Amino acid sequence: MKSRRQFLQHFSAALALPALAGWTNKPEASLQGPVLKVAIMGLGSYGTRVADALVGCKRAKLTGVISGTPSKIKTWQSKYGIAEKNCYTYDNSDQIKNNPDIDAVYIITPNALHHPYAIRVAQAGKHVICEKPMALNAMEALEMVNACKKANVKLLIGYRMHFEANTLEVVRMRKAGEFGKPLFFQGLSGFRIGDPGQWRLTKNLAGGGAMMDIGVYSVNGARYMLGEDPVWVTAQETKTDFQKFKEGVDETIQFQFGFASGAVASCLSTYSMNNLDKFFLNGEKGFAELQPATGYGPIQGRTHRGALALPHVTHQTTQMDEMAQIILDNKVPEIPVDGAEGLKDMKIIDAIYLAAKTGKRVDLKF
Ligand code: NAD
Repeated sequence: MKSRRQFLQHFSAALALPALAGWTNKPEASLQGPVLKVAIMGLGSYGTRVADALVGCKRAKLTGVISGTPSKIKTWQSKYGIAEKNCYTYDNSDQIKNNPDIDAVYIITPNALHHPYAIRVAQAGKHVICEKPMALNAMEALEMVNACKKANVKLLIGYRMHFEANTLEVVRMRKAGEFGKPLFFQGLSGFRIGDPGQWRLTKNLAGGGAMMDIGVYSVNGARYMLGEDPVWVTAQETKTDFQKFKEGVDETIQFQFGFASGAVASCLSTYSMNNLDKFFLNGEKGFAELQPATGYGPIQGRTHRGALALPHVTHQTTQMDEMAQIILDNKVPEIPVDGAEGLKDMKIIDAIYLAAKTGKRVDLKF
């Protein structure tokens, strides 16, 4: 039986969570099985956001954790009601193999750990959900795709915007020909990064700088907004703070794409500007603009027809309910979120870095 203290902890957590996730005044979600049982690996800031969002899911549920910090495990256990037998460290995480309470592991660690742990999770026979950027480069991404294929488990990338209503409406309009032939995409992705000691500014853990962390949204967005993959890339890097942004950690990169249809894209990725989160799509007959385009919401949009006003739902709640259906029901999402999709972005990012370094146009084949 629960002690009074445990009961109060659960009770206060239950009261606090809806407010944290912005669900005030919404009825408590009830599960509608079959339910995807998820363990989160990496209990940091985004892991916590996903855990809070999972409370509102109907088809997914947080059942386990993998962490190197025992005190965080304890806090999460009492906050989310996670059983002791579903708690793991990075060292013993392979033992999830024998745990029927875990169907999938959501990897929300610094970027460098995505590749080794995705492979270990796959080898343990569990589905992999992995945060963006999927890996440090295309080679690693390909190895992850192959490992999941070999283990017969699904690999999904945490592209939450692929399930966001305003984004999906723009994609629907583009597919319906409402913009005419799409000709131009502009993607602006940036924020001003703080603490110079954080892993995001450490090449070994981040794999790069702003491009890996935030520029990836414009890379990915160019593809789903235009509905096409680029065939060439050019890029130019600028750096104003050589102390904060060391060798291999990009501060600002402008990049351009060309597409087989004749469409072009012009994008900016930066760690030096706040309020930079905008997508613009222009076609022969119309346009769409999303600003903010990829933040936690609400997403604001308008097209040549007027404002887009689709209601805001916590992105990660929709994402996890949809991912549960992709994994358990083989549902096919409107915009792919699988390993092949993440691999394309990693190939493009590799090409952007090469183009920025050499000053030359880099051709792409998928
Ligand atoms: P964070 O620093 O807040 O959390 C990272 C977690 O990993 C921490 O709990 C830390 O203890 C743990 N960790 C394990 N090994 C570590 C190591 N060697 N060094 C440092 N930390 C280690 O970071 P975050 O913001 O939660 O980002 C985690 C991942 O999620 C990144 O890949 C990031 O790109 C991604 N992310 C995605 C979104 C999104 O909207 N999809 C938003 C934020 C972050």
